Amino acid sequence: MERPGHHILLLFLDGVGIGKKDYEWNPFFKYGFQTFEKIFGEIPHLENQFLTNGKIFLSPVDALMGIEGLPQSGTGQTSIFCGVKAPQIINQHFGPFPYSTLIPIIKEENIFKYFFDKEEKVTFANAYPQLFFDYINSGKKRLSVTTLSCNLNGMHLNGYDDVVAGNALTAEITNARWNKKLGYNLPIISAKLAAENLLNISYKNSFTAFEYFLTDHLGHGRYDEDTESTLKTLDEFLYTIFTQCDEEKLSIILCSDHGNVEDLSVKTHTTNPSLLITAGRKAKIISESISDLSDIKNAIIKNLC
Ligand SMILES: [Zn+2]
Repeated sequence: MERPGHHILLLFLDGVGIGKKDYEWNPFFKYGFQTFEKIFGEIPHLENQFLTNGKIFLSPVDALMGIEGLPQSGTGQTSIFCGVKAPQIINQHFGPFPYSTLIPIIKEENIFKYFFDKEEKVTFANAYPQLFFDYINSGKKRLSVTTLSCNLNGMHLNGYDDVVAGNALTAEITNARWNKKLGYNLPIISAKLAAENLLNISYKNSFTAFEYFLTDHLGHGRYDEDTESTLKTLDEFLYTIFTQCDEEKLSIILCSDHGNVEDLSVKTHTTNPSLLITAGRKAKIISESISDLSDIKNAIIKNLC
């Protein structure tokens, strides 16, 4: 079933919090980030966590949910995509993959299933290389929350052919890494073109999700490419999405599961609030109704469905 007129894009960035105004260790201050500076006129930091240009809203989200320790991806992403306080369910932060107790919850409550059950068009816009399909086919199931959700729903996971057809994006946006590290021969595309592709995919679906995890890898010091140029690619991608989207047709919710890359003085996750940006229909109400990660799914459904 097509949804007439309105579409939802959930942009998930792994490991992006609102950190200190620190020109040495916060890369958004160190290198600049036009998505913050041009849209909001400033970069968010702990003393300035709510920004808006009147149409697009940036705010902090509690990733701890009352549980001590450093927030982790498995519980954080389960909270986002399933609308539950996952760290409270297992009384700890756990990751990077979901704790086994959470898997039945993910199977029933994941946001893809909500749209899938209503027979609306839903897509997870990331593409995976053959290596990943070989891994799944070998029976291994240590998957992230998004891929596990799709797998448990029996949804199509995109591969090489979908990237070539413009129906999916590689996780690093430009395709360069698939060619360099995995031996593919994909066209190298600009971050701007990738963003336009993602907008076009979003206009064809009721609900689209895209996951970007290099921010978390950068924060852990585990990524072998240059931090500044990697973030510049992400910035161009996000800036294009937020400035070129047709807000009458598309609502955008950008969120993250925990802090990490905003403080490069440590290689671990942080306890900083995670980043939320909302645009499009009811952007202000959605922003205001999200205080912790478990509110995101419900705010989307309540306000946009
Ligand atoms: Zn994470």
